[in-house]
Amino acid sequence: MVDYLVVGLGLAGVSFCHTLEKENRSFVVFNDSSQRSSWVAGGIYNPLVLKRFKAAWHAEQQYQLLKPFYHSIEEKLGKDIDHPTPVLRRLASAEEQNMWFEAADKPRLSPFINPELYDYQNPSIDSPFGYGKVMGTGRIDTKLLVESYEAYLMKSGRLVRESLDPLRLEHKNDTVVYGSYKARRIVFCTGFGLSENPFFNYLPLTGTKGELLTIKAPNLQEKHIIKSTAFLIPIGGELYRVGATYKWKDKTNTPTAEARDELQVQLDKFLKCPYEVVDHIAGIRPTVTDRRPLVGCHPAYDNFYVLNGFGSRGVMIAPYASGYLFNYIENGQALPEEMDIRRFDQKFTQSALN
Ligand SMILES: Cc1cc2nc3c(=O)[nH]c(=O)nc-3n(C[C@H](O)[C@H](O)[C@H](O)COP(=O)(O)OP(=O)(O)OC[C@H]3O[C@@H](n4cnc5c(N)ncnc54)[C@H](O)[C@@H]3O)c2cc1C
Repeated sequence: MVDYLVVGLGLAGVSFCHTLEKENRSFVVFNDSSQRSSWVAGGIYNPLVLKRFKAAWHAEQQYQLLKPFYHSIEEKLGKDIDHPTPVLRRLASAEEQNMWFEAADKPRLSPFINPELYDYQNPSIDSPFGYGKVMGTGRIDTKLLVESYEAYLMKSGRLVRESLDPLRLEHKNDTVVYGSYKARRIVFCTGFGLSENPFFNYLPLTGTKGELLTIKAPNLQEKHIIKSTAFLIPIGGELYRVGATYKWKDKTNTPTAEARDELQVQLDKFLKCPYEVVDHIAGIRPTVTDRRPLVGCHPAYDNFYVLNGFGSRGVMIAPYASGYLFNYIENGQALPEEMDIRRFDQKFTQSALN
């Protein structure tokens, strides 16, 4: 008998498990490889929405938690997963330069925005209007994080490398039973896989496919993350990630020639040095119709929980939403309405009637 069964070990599962460990709760994790979002993510954390020059949802609160959270995981695993790296927003016109100055004047944005145009040139990047520099940004190596966490749980016998079939769950009194496993509660951290879960498939998880390239560009020698028509992310040596695409119809993890072409067209708009594509990966972001996380308790099963809907900002949202879910379950603290799945209770009632 453990306190929790956790299903899924992407950013949501890792963050919830780390929270459980800090709070001395026992758990077992089931994880398969049906979803890849956290494995393929660019891993950028950045409090701003750089397309629209505004702050991301609850960015300040999330940002406060981010560093201590990932640094305590780094200590536990003995791995370097946080790579603080400035993000340079390539400005495309004089109008965008003005928008940058206006953004720097806004009190919510000013802690993260360097108000001056950033005096910097890389001969391999075309940037006639210069850059705006975002502060406090970086990259979490999400692949290393999830793989190391998996190995860490494996060692202590807390990982089952299997799909959990929700239809085989038994709900007895205050206990959830799955084969020989018994727990007081179950938390589904299954990313886009939640859409196939009969208990939670009433939730409007849409899923957005994203693809990323890895390029080798020996002459580029760029240390910043560049945000232009695509993100260019240095990952060490002569390698860079380039991404990402957004597609709503295809729900497979298979890379496509179409996305590769699209990314190369975007990259060629600003990259002026030769490069070679050495890798190409894809995953489904767990996106929600109202762009807010899905956190909370099932309307009919009081020990079935969900932690999901992190969309394209899993790195920043995961520690924040995990903490809220834990305090909701264990300490009776209310969830912010915006992320509480109770906002979709009507959809549950409708699906139960059909
Ligand atoms: C191309 C791309 C680029 C991205 N870039 C960024 C970025 O730069 N910054 C950022 O913050 N976010 C980024 N994201 C978004 C980020 O990856 C997601 O928000 C986050 O990874 C979601 O994590 P998750 O744990 O909810 O889901 P997942 O990572 O999908 O993990 C779910 C896990 O549950 C497992 N699972 C599912 N069903 C079952 C079952 N029945 N039994 C057992 N296991 C199951 C899956 O196999 C998987 O291991 C990007 C996403 C993509 C696709």
